[in-house]
Amino acid sequence: MSSSPPIKDGTVKRKRAKYILNIDKLPGLPEAEKAKLKEVAKKFAFRTNDYYVSLIDWKDPNDPIRRLVIPDERELNDWGILDASNEESITVEKGVQHKYGTTVLLLVNEVCGAYCRYCFRKRLFMNDNDEVTYDISSGLEYIRNHPEVTNVLLTGGDPMILQTPKLEKIFASLREIDHLKIIRIGSKMPAFNPFRFTNDSGLMELFKKYSTPEKRIYMMCHYDHPRELTPESREAIAMLIESGVICVNQNPIIRGISDDPEVMAELWNELSYMGVPQYYVFQGRPTEGNEPFEVPIVEAYQKIEKAKKKCSGLSKRLKYAMSHESGKIEIIGVDERHIYLKYHRAKNPRDEQRMIVCHRDDKAYWLDQLKPIHGYHNDYYEQNGDTDHFGDIRQRVN
Ligand code: SF4
Repeated sequence: MSSSPPIKDGTVKRKRAKYILNIDKLPGLPEAEKAKLKEVAKKFAFRTNDYYVSLIDWKDPNDPIRRLVIPDERELNDWGILDASNEESITVEKGVQHKYGTTVLLLVNEVCGAYCRYCFRKRLFMNDNDEVTYDISSGLEYIRNHPEVTNVLLTGGDPMILQTPKLEKIFASLREIDHLKIIRIGSKMPAFNPFRFTNDSGLMELFKKYSTPEKRIYMMCHYDHPRELTPESREAIAMLIESGVICVNQNPIIRGISDDPEVMAELWNELSYMGVPQYYVFQGRPTEGNEPFEVPIVEAYQKIEKAKKKCSGLSKRLKYAMSHESGKIEIIGVDERHIYLKYHRAKNPRDEQRMIVCHRDDKAYWLDQLKPIHGYHNDYYEQNGDTDHFGDIRQRVN
């Protein structure tokens, strides 16, 4: 299934993605636009690569692939806050987050194969950020001391940017911890740069070695649009599955990229055929710069339900959820007057599985804008002596 033709001497010239860090290097973009978008990129970092750019239809100004990686002037609108889920409050060591009992996040890298314009962690790509650590020794120590931790999520940035020997060191050290069963890797590299997988047989050997029948490695893939499912990307996924990696998909619902029920259904169906079931669809966080990408909760819920009707049970096992500061909250229903939500994971154990019923508000993007009727404890911050982080969000997105 190689996508690279043999060259004269019989060797195979492997395709590679070349990174593009300068907006001037985008031949498809009109000159007049470049100057304006460079201003946006001064605030929110720009990065893409020639493979992903080759998927853009430059004739269409609303092309979803273009929207995903090319800056938008409206990112400079005064809206949202940088750390909308207050990840700072669950950071237990540099680069280590622990919010839910069984799962620890290790932020191992602050670079991605390209930068999604709507990224909720765009603060990591900013110059003065220092939240990521390439040295995971304190994370390992933390996990060793917490026997309840059975899952680790390697994230960042994109861990698959790391070179194979570095990944080997990480996998080997994690596998020395008996109570840690699952290694998850959050990655958009199968979409942004599938050659990272197809060109590296050593990486596949690594997965075979460390993703065992008893303790699997999961690739938490991030596809947003069916046009990302190129032959190269499908080849990368097939190789991962053959190497014993379990693949699932999770992505946010993003205006103009993944908010069309036809597009969603096509993506979830195609992924299910490939063996990559949809796991979560996330409500977009009210992150600074993200106003042009946001979809209100009620509209998102209705579109997701419409898309589900076109899918088999395998692709509609997904949960539509909000990664809120107080927990991962599933949006389970909307009727004429109410929005029904339920904690899927909760920061505070007393909220586990708790239902929340709110007055329906078709303009709300986030829990903090809704008016709860019952089930929601807004006293969390008072009890913990914290400042009202929710108040910041309400002010910025209302
Ligand atoms: S791949 Fe993930 S971390 Fe990287 S820019 Fe996109 S959303 Fe952010």
